[in-house]
Amino acid sequence: MGDGAAPLQDAIRTTCPYCGVGCGIRAAPDGRGGAAIAGDPAHPANFGRLCSKGAALGETLGLEGRLLRPMLGEREVGWDEAIAYIAGGLARVRDHFGPKAIAFYLSGQLLTEDYYVANKLAKGFIGTPHVDTNSRLCMASSVAGHRRAFGADVVPQNYEDLELADLVVLVGSNTAWCHPVLYHRLQTARAERGVRVVTIDPRRTATSEGADLHLDIRPGTDAQLWNGLLVWLDDQGRVDWSYADRHTDGLGSALKLARAQGAQVTAVARETGLSAGDIETFYHWWAGSERVVSCYSQGVNQSAQGSDKVNAIINCHLATGRIGKPGAGPLSLTGQPNAMGGREVGGLANMLAAHMGYGAHERDIVQRFWAARNLPCGEGLKAVQMFEAIAGGGIKALWVIGTNPAVSLPNADLVRAALGRLELLIVSDNVAANDTLSAAHVRLPALAWGEKDGTVTNSERRISRQRPFLPPPGEARADWWMLREVAVRLGWREAFPYRNAADIFREHAALSGFENRGTRAFDISAWAGLSDAAYDALRPTQWPLKRDHAGQIIGSDRVFGEGAYALASGRARILPIPAGALAQPISASYPFVLNTGRVRDQWHTMTRTGLSPRLAVHIGEPFVELHVEDAVRLGLSQGRLACVRTRYGEAVLRVMPSERVQPGSLFVPIHWSDQNSSAGRIGALVQPATDPHSGQPEMKATPASIEPFPAAKFGFLLSREMLPTQNLAYWARARMPAGYATFFALTAVPANWSDWCKSRLPLGEPLTYEDAGSGQFRVAVLADGRLQAVLYAASHPELPSIEWLKTRFALARVPAHERRTLIAGRPIGGEDEGDVVCACFQVGRARILTAVAAGACSPAAIGIATRAGTNCGSCLPELKRLASVMAQRPAAE
Ligand code: SF4
Repeated sequence: MGDGAAPLQDAIRTTCPYCGVGCGIRAAPDGRGGAAIAGDPAHPANFGRLCSKGAALGETLGLEGRLLRPMLGEREVGWDEAIAYIAGGLARVRDHFGPKAIAFYLSGQLLTEDYYVANKLAKGFIGTPHVDTNSRLCMASSVAGHRRAFGADVVPQNYEDLELADLVVLVGSNTAWCHPVLYHRLQTARAERGVRVVTIDPRRTATSEGADLHLDIRPGTDAQLWNGLLVWLDDQGRVDWSYADRHTDGLGSALKLARAQGAQVTAVARETGLSAGDIETFYHWWAGSERVVSCYSQGVNQSAQGSDKVNAIINCHLATGRIGKPGAGPLSLTGQPNAMGGREVGGLANMLAAHMGYGAHERDIVQRFWAARNLPCGEGLKAVQMFEAIAGGGIKALWVIGTNPAVSLPNADLVRAALGRLELLIVSDNVAANDTLSAAHVRLPALAWGEKDGTVTNSERRISRQRPFLPPPGEARADWWMLREVAVRLGWREAFPYRNAADIFREHAALSGFENRGTRAFDISAWAGLSDAAYDALRPTQWPLKRDHAGQIIGSDRVFGEGAYALASGRARILPIPAGALAQPISASYPFVLNTGRVRDQWHTMTRTGLSPRLAVHIGEPFVELHVEDAVRLGLSQGRLACVRTRYGEAVLRVMPSERVQPGSLFVPIHWSDQNSSAGRIGALVQPATDPHSGQPEMKATPASIEPFPAAKFGFLLSREMLPTQNLAYWARARMPAGYATFFALTAVPANWSDWCKSRLPLGEPLTYEDAGSGQFRVAVLADGRLQAVLYAASHPELPSIEWLKTRFALARVPAHERRTLIAGRPIGGEDEGDVVCACFQVGRARILTAVAAGACSPAAIGIATRAGTNCGSCLPELKRLASVMAQRPAAE
């Protein structure tokens, strides 16, 4: 806790801004713009625990890189001028081209109140249906799957079910890295109750290391595996016909198609690449576990057959009646902190508001409730198609709020070019620069986490408050405020009378109950009359939350246990699911399947997590992971660079051979952008194929090629200031405590290193070392005894670890007798700590391996010896792996 920070018991309770677990946080401001951060023991999502990302939030609160004033081009303007410019521009586009020439692209990180106002302004008043969100990239297939099966976008389960289950299946979900607090809850239950865990993923991940069975399925074949389970359940007499007859339709057709496609174990094994024995074990466990939870995440959703995969999973739960019960049901794990809230207010192009779609009856309800003048008649364009329409000139004005489509969308080079075609691009964000902002005509300074006020909904339908604990900096404003001001300027003051977030929330709650009469599952109308004070004090609560005839508030922690689905029949649909296939097959030119994903300590495009030096140490560069056999065949070794190409774009990435990916597969993380790498923007490689039902893009299986990048020199540069990167053939930049770490490569050896350094390094007293024979060059620059920069270069990528060198930047003056150690990269007589494994306590790989060699043979023992893994626990899977690797070594080693 900082010196001036309030005691944590007096801290403000809020919610983490990262993943869909939605952990409660206590934040105690220090009075200087920072805050001490801790988990909230009273929040039912996390009971006080945070992962490495949440725990490092305090490092991301500064104003560095913030956008603090409205900007028209490069000119700072006041809000009045900015709002007038936007209103005038939108009116002009609407008058010349019609309302459908205007689009809004939103974010799962917006608060529900911001989302609500954006959606109402666009659909209800401007009259454009083209409102979509980056949740399209994350959860749209789950939404489509839920709506097809249940009639509404409802997650039936809650997190406690992971602890109550006898079997938990994690499908396409690296929960250990992407939902770490939930993973910890699950692993605790596994240790205490023996909950069985099965992981299904083409990759072996940190999550699969904590599983009883891992199924490394062939990409694109999940539907065959789950269809096979449906048939197995029927053959083994495990279908609950009583439940299916009373509460579902379609089981017979689903079984018929599954059988026709060959759903016996041998056929499933052939299709999925799994062994028949592993498939039988999985089926046997699933069939025999009354309490089974099947969790699915991006590996299922981000697919051109994502909706079918979701329904194939749900089918098995519906056929057995294992749904909406303690420890039994399907559970979609949401990627973003408020993807669920956005879905609730209609942030998706195919929804209207409050979970209502464009059917005539629901459209009429929304139109009358809003007194909307221009409600569109049909659905809008989903994200990928929206940007294709921009590229084609059909959409002329776009308002992007809180997201970075030039990095995150598939075919991102086309997206970037499309942004350049717009007559009006408005971007509201809290950062001053990102790949999307570079193209904006208007940049609006938005509030950041810690300043915003509103609500979010997590993966278990739990609505929590995000409360401000820092004052708004500069001219930054809430997104809903900007939207309201534009609405007022366009003449719709009465429809947008909001004074605060509570006003908006009350209206949202009232709409959810308006003429509902039990027909719509999303109902939080019990909160429609909430006072400002009650809204302020709102505790994390699951929806639905409504009043019965007697006026009593009724809620539910699980849904559909007794049927009562949201379809007109009240019954769920079990859908026939066709066998899946890759959207694009591999070919001789593109013989690999490119899979994208995340790393443990980064979030999205790193605009926030990239500010934390602590989080940068886990993985500081974009990389490509490929199977060791492929790496050997292609001459790609650890630490070298590779060029990965697809039909859409290319990237240069650090090579990481492993046995965790299948031969013929490549895995790349999504986080890097042009702001922090020369060619690490993975969206540029991803194909724009989408799921026909959800519109979600296929981000897990793009045909790709890989070849060595012709680097002549590899190096790193640590510096206090951000130094230029031009003419570096490859570079990637990460934060460190007192500056920046830039990794680089050159394709030609400089004729003279000292000359080459002159334009790149700060002024000062250089200490240099050059060995022409081995091709090494090292230089440290000091000014008044204070370290300013260190540069190491060599003909090979095996350079000293940077961790000790980073610590030298903390010294006011490097002692004279230590200066030569700057060239060695380690203290006199000292050890290189190696890569940091535990971000919380900065414990390096070398220290952990020393502890293991001394007898620490479990994560708990390593924790006692080094403190690694004893705080957030995000590194526990890696500690387990390091302990087991050492255990498998021959005794003599
Ligand atoms: Fe935040 Fe981590 Fe909790 Fe996700 S698991 S909400 S990133 S603290």
